Amino acid sequence: MEMSAEGFAEAHSSGITPAAEPAPAAEAAGAATAAEPVAVVIPPASLSPSRASDFMQCPLLYRFRVIDRLPEKPSEAATRGTLVHAVLERLFDAPAVERTAPRAKSLVPGQWDRLRETRPEVVELFADDPEGERLARWLSEAERLVERWFALEDPTRLEPAERELFVEAELDSGLRLRGIIDRVDVAPTGEVRIVDYKTGKAPRPEYAEGALFQMKFYALVVWRLKNVVPRRLQLVYLGSGDVLTYDPVLGDLERVERKLLALWEAIGLATRTGDWRPRPSKLCGWCDHQAHCPEFGGTPPPYPLPVGAAEPGSA
Ligand code: SF4
Repeated sequence: MEMSAEGFAEAHSSGITPAAEPAPAAEAAGAATAAEPVAVVIPPASLSPSRASDFMQCPLLYRFRVIDRLPEKPSEAATRGTLVHAVLERLFDAPAVERTAPRAKSLVPGQWDRLRETRPEVVELFADDPEGERLARWLSEAERLVERWFALEDPTRLEPAERELFVEAELDSGLRLRGIIDRVDVAPTGEVRIVDYKTGKAPRPEYAEGALFQMKFYALVVWRLKNVVPRRLQLVYLGSGDVLTYDPVLGDLERVERKLLALWEAIGLATRTGDWRPRPSKLCGWCDHQAHCPEFGGTPPPYPLPVGAAEPGSA
């Protein structure tokens, strides 16, 4: 079912308090802050959609990212995604009538400069490109993705209540859920729409449920924070020009909560025992940690937490 953007066009505060975005390492650990020494290893204390997906994909991958915090190389695709997200967010700084495709594309170079300043490691991506040809192609692909957005949504008719909103909620069990929502629209009637931009292509219908997991996760957090079930979850796929929508009901959120609690129990067990199993799949091709993975002849680093003592949520 599709809903027009107009119902969400008015500016309304969602009432959800924006918070400072955590540093990536802190987000992975779920509790550390940028000021803490990198060497401090703590058990996981909260769950984000990305890390929950990591554990479902491969428990060992979760360990490498959250417990060991092994470094990962930036990728062109992920960095382009970050760049495009920044452009779409910044465009809403302009008055509605000025939110045009040319204006959005003109933001790309400046946001790329900003990204290089805040995350200098992305410069490595084009270290072997002295003539700048590959960088130029990469930037024009980012512009193409930005331009495609205008065929899917009309930003002149939207006034987001929130952009890049960091949300965190604690369930009755004590599990803390956190994440960053790309955009929250609130209609004059109070209905909430959660929007996420994807720079990849829409999944085939049989994989749509996996794509919606992240959105239901956010819906659960919003429900817990505001006692409001979001009216609509909307995934905007800039890579293929598709919009996937889902209107959740309370039962969906209760189901995802049960799923997350079961996941958290499994993460707790692995944390306490140090038993993080690899789960090979075709996604291993994108994993940065094959050199440490037994499935590829590697050896994980020594487990940095005391086995039998660490309790998730104790940090
Ligand atoms: S290579 Fe595959 S099995 Fe090994 S840690 Fe990465 S995702 Fe898991």
